[in-house]
Amino acid sequence: MRQSLVIGNWKMNGTRASAQALAQGIIAGLGTSNAALAICVPYLHIPDISQVVSGTQLALGSQNIADKAAGAFTGEISASMLAEFGCQYALVGHSERRSYYGDTDATVAARFAQAQEQNIIPVLCVGETLEEREQDQTFQVINKQLDAVIDVAGVAAFSRAVVAYEPVWAIGTGKTASDEQAQEVHSHIRKYFADKDQAIADKLQILYGGSAKPDNAKGLFAMPDIDGGLIGGASLDAESFLKIYNSTKAV
Ligand code: PEP
Repeated sequence: MRQSLVIGNWKMNGTRASAQALAQGIIAGLGTSNAALAICVPYLHIPDISQVVSGTQLALGSQNIADKAAGAFTGEISASMLAEFGCQYALVGHSERRSYYGDTDATVAARFAQAQEQNIIPVLCVGETLEEREQDQTFQVINKQLDAVIDVAGVAAFSRAVVAYEPVWAIGTGKTASDEQAQEVHSHIRKYFADKDQAIADKLQILYGGSAKPDNAKGLFAMPDIDGGLIGGASLDAESFLKIYNSTKAV
């Protein structure tokens, strides 16, 4: 049985003080769930939050990671810098990075590899736009996004990675995929891996992301191939985030 995992994506929100208070609020409300929990916070808040989460069950992650190890890459933050502050996860290929900041399948694959070089677990985000879904291209789009990473890192690399299915049309829009729509794609992703390596597929945590909220999380997480969630808006409130976390399947 796979351990459930819930990751918060704070995006570009919060002040230094509010970020610390939110992390403290999450830690204070942690119960006895044996699911894993992480928050991906803005880069500038990582030093503060790494101290807040130290010694707790709450793990820390970044929202992006450089596609190179070091050097003349102005404005970038490397995997080794993130590792030094205790980041255990890094989002790679979030649709906001792909659509607003020019991330391509190739740069996403390079970021994924850089994370693993420093033992940071990449959370590879994949998903289709509304137009692609309406043209029945969902599976093709996701296969292409996964192929690009496997071509660079190999399938075995997914024993140390997480995949997040995030339909672009559901992110920040209030429109959630139905339990069945999400399960259909998660099952497709698991089969994609099973065709290459059954053991990797069986162990791979596949998270759902896209307007997940306390009132829809339980239904989504009950689906057999949904192992937790990547949560944007609802992760900015400790109570909502913890309700979602407490909706994961017991293992
Ligand atoms: C996300 O940013 O990954 C996300 C899923 O956002 P939201 O939950 O706000 O749709």
